[in-house]
Amino acid sequence: MNFTKRTHTCGELRLTDENKTVTLNGWVSKKRDLGGLFFIDLRDRYGITQFKVAPDKTEIYDKALKLGNEFVISVTGKVIKRESINKNIPTGDIEIDADKLEILNESEITPFVVEEDVKASDELRLKYRYLDLRRKTITDNLILRNKVYQIVHKYFAKHDFVEIETPILMKSTPEGARDYLVPSRVHKGKFYALPQSPQIYKQILMVSGLDRYVQICKCFRDEDLRADRQPEFTQIDMEMSFVTQEDIFDMVEGMFKEIWKEIKGIDLPKFRIMTYDDVMSTYGIDKPDLRIRCTDGNEMKIINITETVKGSEFKVFNDVIADGGTVAGIKLSTQEVSRKIIDGLTEFVKKLGFGGLGYLKFNIDGTVQSPLTKFLSEEIIANVKSAFEANDGDTVFILSGEKKKVQTSLGALRIKLAEDFKLLDETGYEFLWVTDFPLFQYDEEEKRFVAEHHVFTSPKDEYLKFLDSRDKDEVESIRANCYDLVLNGHEITSGSIRIHNPVMQKKVFDMIGLTDEEAKMKFGFILEAFKYGAPPHGGVGIGFDRVIAVLCGLKSITDTIAFPKTLKASSLMDDCPSEVTKEQLDELGIQVKSV
Ligand code: ASP
Repeated sequence: MNFTKRTHTCGELRLTDENKTVTLNGWVSKKRDLGGLFFIDLRDRYGITQFKVAPDKTEIYDKALKLGNEFVISVTGKVIKRESINKNIPTGDIEIDADKLEILNESEITPFVVEEDVKASDELRLKYRYLDLRRKTITDNLILRNKVYQIVHKYFAKHDFVEIETPILMKSTPEGARDYLVPSRVHKGKFYALPQSPQIYKQILMVSGLDRYVQICKCFRDEDLRADRQPEFTQIDMEMSFVTQEDIFDMVEGMFKEIWKEIKGIDLPKFRIMTYDDVMSTYGIDKPDLRIRCTDGNEMKIINITETVKGSEFKVFNDVIADGGTVAGIKLSTQEVSRKIIDGLTEFVKKLGFGGLGYLKFNIDGTVQSPLTKFLSEEIIANVKSAFEANDGDTVFILSGEKKKVQTSLGALRIKLAEDFKLLDETGYEFLWVTDFPLFQYDEEEKRFVAEHHVFTSPKDEYLKFLDSRDKDEVESIRANCYDLVLNGHEITSGSIRIHNPVMQKKVFDMIGLTDEEAKMKFGFILEAFKYGAPPHGGVGIGFDRVIAVLCGLKSITDTIAFPKTLKASSLMDDCPSEVTKEQLDELGIQVKSV
């Protein structure tokens, strides 16, 4: 098809181009009819430029009359200064006085108007994703994503990493989530799995001596999706040999620093590091958002006051302490805390399984308002006040019970208070390394230990002695060379120093209840590889979509992905998953049970 090709993009022309004759190609984004004079916005990836068609241009006027939104056109004319300048767009000083207009393709009336302030439902936007992708905000997300790819590739190349593609069709080797399975036609009754991550391959690449591996890759997990998860997502996957945890932290931090510098112009400070145990006792969650602050500027932290309230007259605390439990609390500074607010918060903790919420309200006039004053001496109350560094005008909320439950519930309360009282500074970036995670967790349903991260994570040396124990407390006390990087309350990176010794690997398999036979069937090849000189190694997987969402200021990862799936793991645009023909199933030797 012959058409007049563009000389410029729709985002390019400025006043300095006045009087030039130009051609633009793009989509009609808006048409206004001002008494026979048409003003039309033409859109492409680069921006929007207005052109006008006057009624005396009889040759093209009839075409302009026909134009509808999303028609694809080519327009030629002279760049002129606009009478009414549009300060909202970079091309707003000029317009094109059209002399030639070609309709390259028509468009039906679109199911929703392509506009930045989109009115369509999420479902409609996903069904017609190509229309949604015409919106600048989404295009810009994809462009930013592309910039970050380039920074990542360059960064790792500079540090001697080798980008290596690992298979998409692989052996089903459970890593924690459920595998997506792919039936084999050649080997009927056998299946490939899609990788949950390239974990095993990257470790084998270390055995091969590749030393530094990286890949921006897709990972697939067939889970019932929680909010803001995708069945397939992108990970920056890396692995290094002959390294310690600190070497990996430096490498990952360096990457984030380059991304933030180039994209945001921000010099990130050195990332903070805390152990899992400290993070849990301080924030009650293993991915704390450190941007939550009290109005006095201090971080909102959980304070353990078990020792402080010991020996009080309060039976509830005494019983908990006698049972080995914890009394702890959280401070809300300088906020007006009404009865109604306290009732609301009490309801909140009741849903978490507590009988009630203790509180001490330190009034401005120096008095203390609390049902606890009946049971706690003035001295204990003063000590609690000082433990929280509370001032008059502050309120302290207290929970008591089993340690982990108290911690996680105060963690949830901390987030709720931050939401209710707007204590989250949404503008900043807070990175935190969380280290020393537990190696195993006891799964009450399955009645067995499961790996907290994955089965290739190494225990810290000082806990090796518990690898043969089956005592729940001892086993759960084992800490691992395992770490997460948390950014603004999101776990964006996770990794570990791996086991590289087949004997230790076998002990871990034993712990999670894998028989020798099962271990051989599922992981035999990696155990075999480990027999031939596996170097000490470790690495991380970095959640790429989430990093982009944070950089774009988005709460959800959906709009950082060109073609995302719904919470039900389907794609509304191409209607997948879908049924296949009987012939296809026959070739695979598969019969679908009626559902
Ligand atoms: N494969 C791990 C994951 O996807 C990351 C790692 O340990 O490197 O969580």
